[in-house]
Amino acid sequence: MNIQLDHAPCGYFSITSTGVIRSVNQTLAGMLGYDRQQLLDQHVETMMSVANKLFFHTYFYPYIQLYGHVKEMYFSLRTMEHQDVPVLLNGVQQERDGEVFIDCVVVEMRKRIEHEKDILHTKTKLEELYRATNEANQKLELLHAEYEAKQQELLRLNHQLEALASTDPLTGLRNRRFFQEQLLANIALFQRMRLPFSLLIVDIDHFKAINDTFGHPVGDAVLTDLGQMLRSMSRESDIVARYGGEEFVIIAPSSTRDNAKLAAERFRAQIEAATLGGCQVTVSIGVATMTSVDTDVTLLQKADQALYASKSNGRNRVTHAADRTEA
Ligand code: GH3
Ligand code: MG
Ligand code: MG
Repeated sequence: MNIQLDHAPCGYFSITSTGVIRSVNQTLAGMLGYDRQQLLDQHVETMMSVANKLFFHTYFYPYIQLYGHVKEMYFSLRTMEHQDVPVLLNGVQQERDGEVFIDCVVVEMRKRIEHEKDILHTKTKLEELYRATNEANQKLELLHAEYEAKQQELLRLNHQLEALASTDPLTGLRNRRFFQEQLLANIALFQRMRLPFSLLIVDIDHFKAINDTFGHPVGDAVLTDLGQMLRSMSRESDIVARYGGEEFVIIAPSSTRDNAKLAAERFRAQIEAATLGGCQVTVSIGVATMTSVDTDVTLLQKADQALYASKSNGRNRVTHAADRTEA
C-alpha cells in the first residue's frame, strides 16, 4: 500500500467476498486501536459489535451484491477496547486478478454527530421556548379579554352612577344639578346660535297644608304624580327637573315668550283638573324667556320673581317676567 493511502485522512480496508480482511490502512488500524497485523486475515466482523454484524449481514452484503457499491452508510465500528466509533462508509465491489474484493473507506463521524446533537438540543430548546411564548401569549389574550370586560363593566357602572347623580330619587326626574348644567348649556347655545328658550318654575300652592292634613307620604305621592304629569305634558326636548321641595323647573328649548306662556297656562290648567296622589292641587308658575343681557342667575331671578308675583296675585296662575316689567 502506498504511503499516501496508508496515512490518508480516512480509514481504508479491503475484504474478500466472504469478508476476510486483505488490506487495512494505518489510519483505520490506529482509529480502532489495533496493529495492522492483528486485523489482516481476520474476518471484518472483528471490527464490529454484535448489533452491527447483524446490520452488515442484512444490509451491507445484499446491497453491495445487488448494486456493486454502498454510499454514505451510517455505521459503527468497534475498537479493540470495545468502544463504538461512528463512521460514514462508502464501499465498492471490484475484481482484481480474477478475485472479487470489496474496498471501503470510512470517515469518523464523531464531530458531525456532536453537531447534530447540538442542533437537536437547540431545536428542542427552541421548541420549548416557542411553547412557553405561546402559553404566555394565550395568558395575555385571556388577561386582555378580562381587562376589556372589566372596562365595559366600569363604563356601565359610570353611566349608572352618572344617571344616579343626575336623578331625583323621589320623583325619578332630573335633579337640580343636572338642571344647572343644562341651563348653562342652553345659555351657551343661545349666545352662539340665538336659539331662544324659556324657563318655567312650577311651585305647588299651599303644599305645606297637604303634608299637614294628609301626612308626609301623601305629600310625597303628590310630588311623584306631579313629576310624572309634568313629564308627560312637556315635549321630548324639554328638560323637566325637580328644583327642590315642591318646586319644579322646566327648560323649554325654542320656546319664545308667547309659546312659553301658552305652555305654562296649559300645564296649570291640566294640573288644576287632575288628581295627584289622591289630592287636588294647583300650581303657580313663573316664566322667563332668555334675552341677550341674561345670565343663569338673572334668568332664574326673573322666573322666581314672576313666580312670586303669581303667588301674590292669588296663586293658581302664570306670570311671565317680561309682562311684569312692562306693567
Ligand atoms: P306656597 O303656596 O306659598 O308655595 O305655600 P307652600 O306651603 O307650598 O310653601 P312652603 O314653602 O311654605 O312649604 C313647602 C313645603 O313642602 C314644606 C315642606 O315640608 C314640604 N316639602 C318639601 N320637600 C318635601 C318632600 O320631599 N316631601 C314632602 N312630603 N314634603 C316636602
Ligand atoms: Mg316653594
Ligand atoms: Mg309651594
